Amino acid sequence: MSNTTILWFRRDLRLDDNPALLAALADGARVIPVYIHAPNEEMPWMAGAASRWWLHGSLLALDQALHQRGSQLWIARGDSLGELRRIAALTGATQVRWNRLYDPVTCERDTQIKQALRDDGLHCASHNAALLFEPWEIRNGSGQPYRVFTAFWRACVKQLQQLQPQPAPAALPPLHNLPTSLSVADLELLPRIAWDQGLRETWTPGEISALQQATAFLNTQLNDYGVQRDFPAISGTSRLSAPLHFGEISPRRLLAMLRERSVDPLTDPWMRELGWREFGYHLLYHFPHTTTEPLDTRFAAFPWRSDRAAELLAAWQRGHTGIPLVDAGMRELWHTGWMHNRVRMIVASLLTKNLLLPWQAGAQWFWDTLVDADLACNTAGWQWTAGCGADAAPYFRVFNPVLQGQRFDPDGNYIRRWCPELARLPKAYLHQPWTAPASILTAAGIRLGSDYPAPIVDLAASRQQALAAWERIKITP
Ligand code: FAD
Repeated sequence: MSNTTILWFRRDLRLDDNPALLAALADGARVIPVYIHAPNEEMPWMAGAASRWWLHGSLLALDQALHQRGSQLWIARGDSLGELRRIAALTGATQVRWNRLYDPVTCERDTQIKQALRDDGLHCASHNAALLFEPWEIRNGSGQPYRVFTAFWRACVKQLQQLQPQPAPAALPPLHNLPTSLSVADLELLPRIAWDQGLRETWTPGEISALQQATAFLNTQLNDYGVQRDFPAISGTSRLSAPLHFGEISPRRLLAMLRERSVDPLTDPWMRELGWREFGYHLLYHFPHTTTEPLDTRFAAFPWRSDRAAELLAAWQRGHTGIPLVDAGMRELWHTGWMHNRVRMIVASLLTKNLLLPWQAGAQWFWDTLVDADLACNTAGWQWTAGCGADAAPYFRVFNPVLQGQRFDPDGNYIRRWCPELARLPKAYLHQPWTAPASILTAAGIRLGSDYPAPIVDLAASRQQALAAWERIKITP
């Protein structure tokens, strides 16, 4: 067949609502689905260990879905442009299509690849599979990018009506006589040392699972989302962040699923969270330096601590701070590759404000350990909590993990689950074991400092230090 299109999969690992796939089929083309693993491209923000684990499962699921429709995934390893050229030469492909990515370095690489392939005489086109709106489509009245979420989302919701997902094709053109591809296992994405048991117990990557998860959430939990979303012991949120990151489900599909249930996306609080995801991508696209530098330039001079930094960071990473809600969150992250949003804000606030450690160190740890590690959402989440991002919380809003725990984990179920050594402590002391009388600690089987750490920081004094640090930088233009 003369008309052959390479469909270059990246983080759009689905067949439903996949514009590049549909455009390739509309060309009337033989479609060659390709995934290229490019570990040597020396890009910053290469997938961390938990993300690679997810990617392995997601690629297997995609290959299976392609086989069910009469096709298959061609897996290659090497530099992206070189592999695309090699596959084009082997198959006689005349076109290459893909869905866009938005992180700055990948954007630049993709632009270069597009130009190089066009110079080779290939037709290239890219599409939007990941977002409701392209980051450059939404602008304020003066044509500038937004820095405030509410105004950004107001501009978006006006245009939601026009968005419709496209169904997956029932069948795909068969592929004959293709050279043998690598297998997913050949990419060696899984950890060599088996620390991933918690991930395996918690998640099933892939498009089918993502749709099931979305359906179950929308059918049973959406109505209570506004109330339950803040309680980490309850499964009150969708847990769709990793499927969204890997493109196993499309935000347009989720929007359509809301409409099918007669939910008004303009007012729905869960839809608004998808809006925060869009806002993160908007910021990343327009302010690409913010992956490493604060959007609020006053924070470039922030007096982060230099003493005991490595020791305190390690205690935070391991969930050994002696502050139960923080430790529970960090252990949930290590075990499952995910952490509840409220707890993400609390652990990030402790790191950046009470411990005065730079938000970039926290963002890096999340990058390696989250299955949903996403440059746009992670950067925005860390900058927001540290006080230096767009629409950031006022700096004086230092989360108090004790009060937060009493309010959002009132029975202590979340803490008991992830810090089992505290399980026998009465509720009154569970969020601050250091205030428990010796007799209560003994009765609960806890020696503070050996069975469970004494707090590594005084919450009240460190809050004052953080506010003083803020006073020193806040007037700098
Ligand atoms: P739900 O509450 O069901 O929300 C639905 C979807 O909306 C999510 O899947 C996600 O795609 C999006 N969303 C929800 N909240 C936010 C938010 N605050 N910002 C942007 N998008 C949001 N999210 C990531 O996907 N990847 C990250 O690397 C990431 N890092 C974060 C770091 C920090 C310090 C903070 C405070 C937040 C971070 N978030 C990140 C945002 C948020 O915590 C997760 O998206 C959410 O907890 C995922 O759970 P869920 O799918 O059940 O969310």
